[in-house]
Amino acid sequence: MAGKGKTVERCTFCEKSRHHVQSLISGPPGVYICNECIDICNTILKEEDRKQKGSEPTFVKDLVLKDKVPTPQQMYDRLSDYVIGQERAKKVLSVAVYGHYRRLHARFHNPDLELEKSNILLVGPTGSGKTLLARTLARILDVPFAIADATTLTEAGYVGEDVENILLRLLQNANFDVEKAQQGIVYIDEIDKIGRTTSNVSITRDVSGEGVQQALLKILEGTVANVPPQGGRKHPEQSYIQVNTEHILFLCGGTFSGIEQFIARRLGQKVIGFGKDQTDAKVPDFDLETAERERDRLIPFLDQKDLIDFGMIPEFVGRLPVMVPMRSLTHEEILGVLTKPRNALVKQYKAMFEMDGCQLEFTDDALGAFAEQAMIRETGVRALRSMFEQVLLDLRFDIGNRKGERIVVTRDFVNKRLLSQRGDEADEQKRETA
Ligand code: ADP
Repeated sequence: MAGKGKTVERCTFCEKSRHHVQSLISGPPGVYICNECIDICNTILKEEDRKQKGSEPTFVKDLVLKDKVPTPQQMYDRLSDYVIGQERAKKVLSVAVYGHYRRLHARFHNPDLELEKSNILLVGPTGSGKTLLARTLARILDVPFAIADATTLTEAGYVGEDVENILLRLLQNANFDVEKAQQGIVYIDEIDKIGRTTSNVSITRDVSGEGVQQALLKILEGTVANVPPQGGRKHPEQSYIQVNTEHILFLCGGTFSGIEQFIARRLGQKVIGFGKDQTDAKVPDFDLETAERERDRLIPFLDQKDLIDFGMIPEFVGRLPVMVPMRSLTHEEILGVLTKPRNALVKQYKAMFEMDGCQLEFTDDALGAFAEQAMIRETGVRALRSMFEQVLLDLRFDIGNRKGERIVVTRDFVNKRLLSQRGDEADEQKRETA
């Protein structure tokens, strides 16, 4: 379709055009290779060389040899710079992650030592900080990190993503350094959506959640996975990159909504608000707040049996021995999220206004209004950023005329802006439907 115009040069290996890669090196006429494919080839050659020499990969080269792993207390303190509340989760995670990297260290000095790894399961409502915890851990340890969504995964051969693609993302984040990737951290979100009994999963998925659990099981427990370097494209066997998942730390997260019924039943308790049939989560006769309170009350008692009752297969649950139950954030904690972390929204917006010579301030009441809204919105604290954008839009638009001013945002101002925005939305809808 190029017509008479100049054809765009493409990498002969991955077919990406010159515009989509950093550099393209030409060979014989019409033959090119891009920098990304050169990286992949280097990785494959290095791995083959290593195999020929029969040397053990030094998984822990960077991290543990230089003894860069912080102690549990140090890890907890650094997590607290970013994650508000969730004290138990931070403690359990710090200990588990420290143990994981210590195990690698021990194995490095004594290769015969068999130490099982402990992957971690985070159970908590949306916006309680599960992803944030995983991401912050990877940042503290300076190891490659990848996030995957369990609902997009399938068994090999079905529509959707193969589980190996999770490892491809990790490899990409490690610049195709296999050794580095092999000591990285992977966070798999929405793990509850691949429960045996759940049917509300992605419409493109044509397999049972159980099949995906089986496929994930292998990489969770440790296997040498063949990762297609181009993300799922068919390649001859030798061009796969082999990744050993034995020392990759997997964190899985999910909301597991309704799991409190299973906990309550096991404990011989009744969940307030659920009618006679405690197992019927679909027709609750209670309000959202009561449900949340009940969940927060019961979640600390979470047990592996409850996860199996929920629909996770026992082998899968067995591969996630460290369970971290998390509560929804309280009003006070949401106030903390707004002001305390290093990258807290209030700090960010103040800095932004300061760059234009304006002093931005919020009254305590105004921050309270944001927190109240976050508690009643379904997206919880995730909605905070967009609320800030809504409230401060006009002020930011007018920033050119406000040099030297001190702007104080009050509760009234916040509520009016949030309401007027909602009013605008309602008007739009009315106009559309008219
Ligand atoms: P989850 O994975 O539990 O659904 P996230 O970790 O994605 O929630 O949280 C969404 C955003 O909300 C985070 O990026 C962060 O800005 C904020 N947030 C959530 N929980 C906390 C917390 N405990 N401390 C600080 N910020 C938080």
